[in-house]
Amino acid sequence: MASDIITIPARRGKAARVPRGRSVKVINTHGQQVVDTWAFNAEDLREFMSMEHSRVNFMKLRPALGDSFFSNARRPILTLVEDTSGGAHDTLMAACDNARYGLLGCAEYHDNCTDNLAAGLAELGLEPPETPSPLNLFMNIPWTPAGELAWGEPVSKPGDYVVLRAELDLIVAFSACPQDILPINGRAGPPTEAHFRIE
Ligand SMILES: [Zn+2]
Repeated sequence: MASDIITIPARRGKAARVPRGRSVKVINTHGQQVVDTWAFNAEDLREFMSMEHSRVNFMKLRPALGDSFFSNARRPILTLVEDTSGGAHDTLMAACDNARYGLLGCAEYHDNCTDNLAAGLAELGLEPPETPSPLNLFMNIPWTPAGELAWGEPVSKPGDYVVLRAELDLIVAFSACPQDILPINGRAGPPTEAHFRIE
């Protein structure tokens, strides 16, 4: 049975438990919002979804349907089973943090995905062992044959979603990325909320 829809508030984080074999549907409610995504083994948070280990497995810069993300212990942890968003997701960029916004010119504290991960897990009484490189859902980072990267705008539309199946008992965490200096959350307006549901 599917859970209620859970809100990832704009600029904030949210975490939930997902039992093995269940799936999480992540919805880009307003269409232009990047959602940083993490998954941790619920039995041992030191095992987590690793972009480096995942790319070794699927040998692509971004996953295709049926591809599994791997943990840092080289085990399948999440599998991409549905995607209506056009498939532009990023596996390369680190989560934003307050230092990153300092480099972008912010003189004061800026909301960030690293702190959102910690806050989301804290609501469950947990603490991340570190900030793993996230799966940046809906984040469009185009590349060139010369290896250059760019900050693209999302290609997703309102209501687009991905479905990820849990291959272990998991803690999943999401951050509605508060990036409002670069155009990764689109140019139309400020960062927005997003939603997810356990199915
Ligand atoms: Zn971010």
